[in-house]
Amino acid sequence: MLKTVETMSNLGAIDAAHHLHPFSDMKKLNAAGTRIIQRAEGVHVFDSNGKKYLDAFAGLWCVNVGYGRREIADAVFNQINELPYYNTFFGTTTPPTTLLAQKITEHAGPKMNHVFFTNSGSEASDTWFRIARVYWKALGKPTKTKIIARKNGYHGSTVAGASLGGMKWMHEQGNLPIDGIVHINQPYWYVEGGDLSPAEFGLKVARELEEKIDELGADNVAAFVAEPIQGAGGVIVPPETYWPEISRICKEKDILLVSDEVICGFGRLGSWFGYQHFGVEPDLAPVAKGLSSGYLPIGGVLVSDRVAEVMVNQIGDFAHGYTYSGHPVCAAAALENIRIIEEEGLVERVRDDIGPYFAEAWKSLSDHEIVGEAVSVGLMAGLQLTIDKATRRRFAKPDDVGTLVRNHCVENGLIMRATGDRMLASPPLVISRGEVNEMIATLRKGLDHLRDTVKE
Ligand SMILES: *Cc1c(COP(=O)(O)O)cnc(C)c1O
Repeated sequence: MLKTVETMSNLGAIDAAHHLHPFSDMKKLNAAGTRIIQRAEGVHVFDSNGKKYLDAFAGLWCVNVGYGRREIADAVFNQINELPYYNTFFGTTTPPTTLLAQKITEHAGPKMNHVFFTNSGSEASDTWFRIARVYWKALGKPTKTKIIARKNGYHGSTVAGASLGGMKWMHEQGNLPIDGIVHINQPYWYVEGGDLSPAEFGLKVARELEEKIDELGADNVAAFVAEPIQGAGGVIVPPETYWPEISRICKEKDILLVSDEVICGFGRLGSWFGYQHFGVEPDLAPVAKGLSSGYLPIGGVLVSDRVAEVMVNQIGDFAHGYTYSGHPVCAAAALENIRIIEEEGLVERVRDDIGPYFAEAWKSLSDHEIVGEAVSVGLMAGLQLTIDKATRRRFAKPDDVGTLVRNHCVENGLIMRATGDRMLASPPLVISRGEVNEMIATLRKGLDHLRDTVKE
């Protein structure tokens, strides 16, 4: 173990010498030095200097039950001793894998009764992408292959995941998107809504889906994918008119609706899944993150009866899967994680108790002179920075202002994230009212800091 004092004090240098980080400019990172997170408890993480942070981002949107859960550690320990690994390819399964599939579907609604396991959300994107195409092919409609996704959506960073995502700067690396994926506008009223009301704008961008399907021909379109609330894109909560219209269009045009539940699933919005919050019924739903609260890597695709029926009876051998699909130890961690969510009533807590409390506290920031809007659903929140509230004008360098606030927060012991000029929060579902207050107070100081910096 890397535990000697000497090794620990060198860790930064070792990291710079050998470790390439995801989504990082390595030259800048090596110059600034990495922050080494060493341990965690509840909603707090501690770095290698012993500094304590309130983690208002739940790791990376995932540690829903909070850190330091002994029960999950015990479940993992026991499973490793009993059966550390076995595959699910050749007519076999393991008890936790099968029980996890059942457990997930208990909460997924009456029409969502099957699960295909992956190790991550990105792999879940690749998985449903293939399922959607083989589904239509099996139904004798092999031309239904195109997938419609959204600009500024995020669906992971594998080739299919990054292509489905609508991040231009990701597409530029590796000649993406791959063939057959097209993007329509996002329901980002604050910046793109112009003079329309949010409700009008929600309908307008939803109808872009209909226009795009008509343009491509419904016979050529397999599916539409969206996050219930865009996460990495900036916690963009769509206007109320948006999801019902999307749902109507998918039904009428007979294309599959894919709800990317990687963030919204497992309680974040005060419902088990984001599609339940918005009252829609998707055909496929990728999950990951909160499924195991990040304790071990596991993801999957929830498959509706409509699609599963075809997969079971008409596709034959679906040539897809991962060595670790349904890994027994990860499944054991996920089962224990879900047991905790159930036992502690965390979904209900977010819906009825801490979610409403948080919403009010978050909303209180909208009186700040550089805050354009402060929106949240459950414990997922976005805060728009603006130079002029009345006209919704953006700062001259939108990409820099969020970083400034974020860095100020981190210095003051609060971990938050920024996407351009939006501040994002997604704390563990166990956060207390006192911790919410602390978080809001520190964030407000970060906003003051930005305002004062801009004035200078
Ligand atoms: C994080 C994320 C993914 C990708 O999941 P990974 O586990 O990082 O591969 C996919 N979709 C959404 C909405 C996400 O937030």
